[in-house]
Parts: sequence; structure tokens; C-alpha cells
Amino acid sequence: MTDRNQQLFDRARALIPGGVNSPVRAFRAVGGTPRFVQRAQGAHFWDANGQRYIDYIGSWGPMILGHGHPAVVEAVQQAVLEGLSYGAPTEREVELAEAIVELVPSIEMVRLVSSGTEAGMSTIRLARGATGRKKIIKFEGCYHGHADALLVKAGSGLATFGNPTSAGVPPEVVQHTLVLEYNNVAQLEAAFAEHGADIACLIIEPIAGNMNFVRASVPFMKRCRELCTQHGALLAFDEVMTGFRVALGGAQSVYARLIPGFEPDMTVMGKVIGGGMPLAAFGAKRAVMEHLAPLGPVYQAGTLSGNPVATACGLATLREIRKPGFYEALSATTRSLVEGLSRVAAEEGVTLCGDSEGGMFGFFLLDELPQNYARVLTTDGARFNSLFHGLLERGVYIAPALYEAGFVSAAHTAQDVEDTLAAAREAFRRLPR
Ligand SMILES: *Cc1c(COP(=O)(O)O)cnc(C)c1O
Repeated sequence: MTDRNQQLFDRARALIPGGVNSPVRAFRAVGGTPRFVQRAQGAHFWDANGQRYIDYIGSWGPMILGHGHPAVVEAVQQAVLEGLSYGAPTEREVELAEAIVELVPSIEMVRLVSSGTEAGMSTIRLARGATGRKKIIKFEGCYHGHADALLVKAGSGLATFGNPTSAGVPPEVVQHTLVLEYNNVAQLEAAFAEHGADIACLIIEPIAGNMNFVRASVPFMKRCRELCTQHGALLAFDEVMTGFRVALGGAQSVYARLIPGFEPDMTVMGKVIGGGMPLAAFGAKRAVMEHLAPLGPVYQAGTLSGNPVATACGLATLREIRKPGFYEALSATTRSLVEGLSRVAAEEGVTLCGDSEGGMFGFFLLDELPQNYARVLTTDGARFNSLFHGLLERGVYIAPALYEAGFVSAAHTAQDVEDTLAAAREAFRRLPR
């Protein structure tokens, strides 16, 4: 049989670097041929060979309703008929802003953009403009999009200044980015003790999904909040992945339940908010957001920002996820998957632990949940790759890298979970010992 995936990949590689338009899609970490998607419906997609997969990526987060939800499709079709883009304001932008402010109480004003990268980059610029300070804190293993100043992982050790992770980022551009270890309170305190007066903002993935699935501990998050307040720095939650994904109010609502009165100062959103269309946002209290052009001196703009088709898609998605019981059902499905994987792994003598919140999950071939990036990287890559391909061959598509979270949608059924666990059992049996 001709492998259409391979044929397409060969054509793609001749013209597109690595054959893909975003690196992880290329299967470089796990090897093999990327699946070229032909169509998707509900919890499934079909590749170019017509093979069906249970989809645990969901476009890396946005597809919380599953693919082709009728209400979303209808809203998008209607919007398309009314025009693709105007470059002038629309009612739907106002409606979406109202919905965001209502659902996320820490946000009083919001600006819509087209990608999480833009939203993260603009948040940093706004934080610097609003505070008049230069330095930012980020954590190893957290991804905030590919803007230059944020594209630093750097090694461990206190206040590692500017080892750019990517080529093409001059050291001068990241010299004000302090990279600290996630969940390390002592490092955090030392960084604020030394640089407190210069720190514009601390940006964090509250539940980090770009190093698989690692929660910020409650004591760590409390210290982040206290130190930011004490030193006049802004606490920025990057909820591009967690927003409307782990709960209707995002990860900040999860931490507000654990830490009374807890709120971040700024929030970065993307993925679910666009329901699969290019839409993202950043928001904060009015006093911070008023520094943004045209009200204030911090410039930010976008030709397609607040795009009418994207806002129609986002609004239709938000309408569905606000329905009573939505997150209870989604969480239950996700938990049944993660608990099932742990159970089946144990039965097959495979060391595995997992965690989930709402429709986001992670699992590790480790004996305990890691607290930071260095620990995540102790996972045996060869075993993960074997598991990945074992699942893929059996029609289950998880992220092709061990440092990525997984996503369950409202379209995933008990049968999908059962089929996944049956595939996992077979894959576990074939893992290298
Ligand atoms: C996906 C992601 C981004 C970047 O969003 P894009 O839309 O891919 O630019 C930023 N932050 C986090 C936490 C993400 O998961």
C-alpha cells in the first residue's frame, strides 16, 4: 500500500523546513512519519491513509468541544457569509470581551490578538511599560510563545542570565530575563532579594503544560504572589493552555480555591478561547491595561486582531463550555483516562504516574510526579518513544514528545477511553525493559 503520509511528508520536506509549520509536528523526538490529517470529527481524526485516531492533542488544546461541534460550525459558517475581516471594530469583539471579564474576575480589560505568542509578548511589553522596569522572571520548562525575550530555558542555578535557547536571539535581548527553577521557593526569594526593584513581572504557567503536566505547588504560588506584591512586580499567569481548559475560570480559579483571595495581575489567554481559530487575548486590571495604545504609550496592534470569524468561533465555544455540568463531565472523562492508564500500567508492571485537571492531563514513566523540568527530563526517552508508537499503531494519538500535556474533549466517550486503555495495555507489554 502506498503510504500517503510518507508521500506528503516527502513533498513537504522539500519546501517547508522539516516538512512542518510548527516543529513538534515533525516527529523528530519520536521518529517515524508524521500523520497528515485529512479530516476530523468529534474525538477522532483520520490521516491521509484513511486511518482513524483517537485524538488527545485537540490542536494542542483548543478543541475542547471536539472537532466539528455543530454549534461552532454553524457560527463560523454564518460569520464567513458576513465577511472575513474588516479592520474595524465589531459587536462580537465586545461580546467576547464581556464574556472574558465575566468569567475571569482578575481581568477588567482585555485586548484580543491572534496567537498566544503575541499575547505573551505583549503582556511583557505592557508589564515593562506599566512598571517602568526592565527585568522579567520566567521558569525553566515554561513556554510563553516564541518571542525573543521569552525564548530562554537556560540552565539551573540562581538567576541565570540570558542563555538564549534559540539561535538568532542575541544575548543582549534576553539579558533582562531571569530564568528560575519551577517550584523552587529559595531561588525565587533570592532573585527578588537581589533584583526586586527591577522586576517588571513574573510570568508563569500555573499548571505547566509545556513540560508535560507539572503543577505549581501551593506554597510556591503563594510566595510568587507575596513577593510580586511586596516588590511591586506584576504576576502574569500564562493561561494560554490552562484558560477555559482546566476550569471555566482557568487555573487561577483553581488556585483561588486553595489560596483565599488569590489573583494574578495579568492573564495571557489563547487556544480554547479561539475554539480552533487564530485568537488569543491578554487582560489585566484597568489601571494596567490603560497603559496600552491608544490610551497609553505601550504600542500594540494587529491587522487581524479580533477577526470576525475567529470571534464567532470563540464565542460559540464559550457558550458551550458555560453550560452547567460541562467541566464536571470533562473532568470525569479525563480522570477515568489517567486512572485507567495508571491501573493498566500497574497490571503490566510498568512504572507510571499521572495527574489531570479539567480536560488537561499528563503522565510520566516515573515513580512520582515531577516538580520541575530537570526531573521531567529524567524520563527514559526510548521507553516513551516506544509507548508513543505503540499507541499510534493502535489508533491512539498522543503528543509526539514526552514534555507535552494531553487534552481530552467533551466529545471523548467512555468507549474512547476503553479503546485507549486496551491499546495502552498492548503498548505497555512491548515496552523495552
Ligand atoms: C501554546 C502556548 C503559547 C503560545 O501560543 P501560540 O498560539 O502557539 O503562539 C504560549 N503559552 C503557553 C502556555 C502555551 O501553551
